[in-house]
Amino acid sequence: MSYNKKRTPANLEKLVEILPPTVSTNLQCLKCGKLFGIEFPAAHTSEATPNSHHFSCWSTQPLRLEGGMGVLCDVNGSMAMLETLYDILCDATKTDYPRCGECSRKHGEEMSRNLMRLCNLRTKYAAVLDNFPTVVGDKDEAAIDAELAQLEAQCQAEELSLASLHASIETEHSIGKQLEEKKQDLAMHESQYWLEVNQSVVDESAAAEESHYLDTRLARAQKELDRLVCTNLINETFYLCTEGHYGTINGYRLGKVPSPAPDNEETNAAWSYMVLLLHTLANVSETKFSLYRLVPRGNLSYVETLVPRPDVYELYAGAGGWFPSARYDKAMCGYLTCVQDVVEELQRKFPGVGEPPVSIKGGAVCAREIVGQHSVKIAAGTDETWTTAMKNVMIILKWCIRVLAVHKGSS
Ligand SMILES: [Zn+2]
Repeated sequence: MSYNKKRTPANLEKLVEILPPTVSTNLQCLKCGKLFGIEFPAAHTSEATPNSHHFSCWSTQPLRLEGGMGVLCDVNGSMAMLETLYDILCDATKTDYPRCGECSRKHGEEMSRNLMRLCNLRTKYAAVLDNFPTVVGDKDEAAIDAELAQLEAQCQAEELSLASLHASIETEHSIGKQLEEKKQDLAMHESQYWLEVNQSVVDESAAAEESHYLDTRLARAQKELDRLVCTNLINETFYLCTEGHYGTINGYRLGKVPSPAPDNEETNAAWSYMVLLLHTLANVSETKFSLYRLVPRGNLSYVETLVPRPDVYELYAGAGGWFPSARYDKAMCGYLTCVQDVVEELQRKFPGVGEPPVSIKGGAVCAREIVGQHSVKIAAGTDETWTTAMKNVMIILKWCIRVLAVHKGSS
């Protein structure tokens, strides 16, 4: 311990050597390191030998420590006694000595507090000891052993229960961890699910918009189709007008009217439409011509005979202007014959259509020549009669168009 190491014999010898033969000397406090004085009576020190003189005077007079513990006891006048005194003090107090007065006082106060605390503990222990016999006095040793064994068994059972509880806690932790992983997995799936739901909503909206757009287009197309179904395509393509004194097809006059008279080009254009119209009607009605065949060639269209031998009759005016021409008249008679073939085919295919507004009759030479009351030949009548004959032909063509539109649709 430190208190034994600090107070060394060398220190004490030094103390002896420095002790003056007079009245006082200094020592160093081993607690705080401060120097403090020790005083001796002067009368005794003068009669002693240099070394024994000190001890004798200590043995006869009380030692008084200034600033220290004051008058302690009677000392036997030797360093051994002084050392013994310090040993006793050190062993009793477990403290290093010598000490100065201040450190000694503080140490004394601390020891007083410890003494007070120990007295209190003693009182409590005494109270416990007084009560102890009454607690266990009624039970014999066997009962106590049995109870102790029971408590040990209970303790072991509790330990087993505790171990089981720990195992359960570990299991619960494992299950909790698995549940947490499943929870995270479920949250991820839920997030993915909502992403897909949102995407499907967007797709559905786009599809609905596309469907609405297609429905609108379909309704518009259906409306257009209905309009086209109701439209007579042939009538729209070949617009015939027979309201005035002469007939027109697509605005081109066919006939000889006073002013202004149609020139050859207008007449040829009208005949080109007439040939193409009749050719179309024959195709639609699937008419097979009996004597003539129409050859639509625009302003150079003509009629070709089938029997008895092939011959061509031009249905256009030449550069020489209007003049009676046998070939031109034959061409118009052939055209009228083809019209009659279409009428008869329509009457055959669609019974009940009745007769056209204007009848077609045969002539002296040609198979068909008279329409209404007028001949289609220019040479056979006046300009007015020929003009009326052309108008009657257009009336019959309009009748054919209407029959086809009613019984075969707009095609
Ligand atoms: Zn001190």
